[in-house]
Amino acid sequence: MGSRLGLKLFLSYLVIIAIGAVVLVLTTDLAVPRAFQRHLGQMSGEMMMGPRDTGSMLQRMSLYGNFQDAVREALTLALVLSTLAAVIVSLVFSRRMVAPLRAMMAASQRIAGGHYNERVRVSGPGRSADELTQLSLHFNQMAERLEQTEALRSQLIGDVAHELRTPLTTIKGSMEGLMDGVLPANDETYQQIHREAGRLQRLVDDLQELSRVESGAYTLHPRAVSLQALVEAVERRLNRQYEEKGVAFTCDLPAGLPAVWVDEDRADQVLTNLSGNALQYTPPGGTVHLSAQENGAAVQVNVQDSGIGIPAEHLEHIFTRFYRVDKSRARPGGGSGIGLTIARFLVEAQGGRIWAESPGPGQGSTFHFTLPTAPPGEHPA
Ligand code: ADP
Repeated sequence: MGSRLGLKLFLSYLVIIAIGAVVLVLTTDLAVPRAFQRHLGQMSGEMMMGPRDTGSMLQRMSLYGNFQDAVREALTLALVLSTLAAVIVSLVFSRRMVAPLRAMMAASQRIAGGHYNERVRVSGPGRSADELTQLSLHFNQMAERLEQTEALRSQLIGDVAHELRTPLTTIKGSMEGLMDGVLPANDETYQQIHREAGRLQRLVDDLQELSRVESGAYTLHPRAVSLQALVEAVERRLNRQYEEKGVAFTCDLPAGLPAVWVDEDRADQVLTNLSGNALQYTPPGGTVHLSAQENGAAVQVNVQDSGIGIPAEHLEHIFTRFYRVDKSRARPGGGSGIGLTIARFLVEAQGGRIWAESPGPGQGSTFHFTLPTAPPGEHPA
């Protein structure tokens, strides 16, 4: 785009130079003949009075002297007028430059004081937008991000408190029941308390992981990875759980699928999460099918289950933290609604996209995500 502000500054200097030059030309055109006239008039007057002081007469009569005086007058006038023009132009220009800077300074002070809804006025955006206009635009974007982060932060604290309350209340209630002798001190009671403590533990682990991925406090080590190997590892890990529940796990990866360029552990984490969810939300006797295909410069992975499905109105929210379609938390081993949020962060951080589709409740769901293909010449280790 080049420097528009620099161009404006340059143009303002040009204006001053042009005014100086025009004034100089005009004044020399007008003043020099007038000055000559005046000096010649003086000269002839003195000649008529008769010669008194021959030395000074000669000096005054000198054409060169007259000319010098005339040019000096013209130059002085040009200097005065162009200084005036410079003062006016620089006043106008610096006011236009300083006003938005002042506004931003005041707004940043108010933002620092916690008023995140502060914005500055953006003058004349568009093609002619100079650096100051761009700065105002970026300033507003920054203020908006700060406002969103602040809103998310307070919402997160509320959500976490809410999530912690349920298991804590159950544990406390059970303990009180035990102490009062209302609940029998048997295996079932201890199991229930243990389950709730486990839920708390999972929630805290998930929160820690979420905060790590959200703040970007982790490093990705991308390299060429074979999707086949990745899927086999996940399959081996979840096999027993699938068998125990009686859900069939099948996969179909086309031969010649290119390697993907990802952090292996993180891609494994996403695939494990989606395959784990598919198992969790698919009743016994159901199926989970994993497939993949090349899609432009990426490989698209699909995890399709024949489970409980997702109502259309929930589809776009399930990647939001703490969002659960079934709010009851009564589900055994029920999750915290953080897994998909983490999966989305990890996929997007690796340059991919993740989304879900479902024909409706009871009709299964399919989760898709893309991973970039490895650059040519890079092969899985
Ligand atoms: P959770 O730990 O609760 O499973 P997730 O973030 O993994 O949290 O998922 C968010 C919500 O999305 C779940 O609570 C569930 O309602 C819905 N969901 C996720 N995967 C599936 C699936 N395969 N079938 C149906 N619903 C699903």
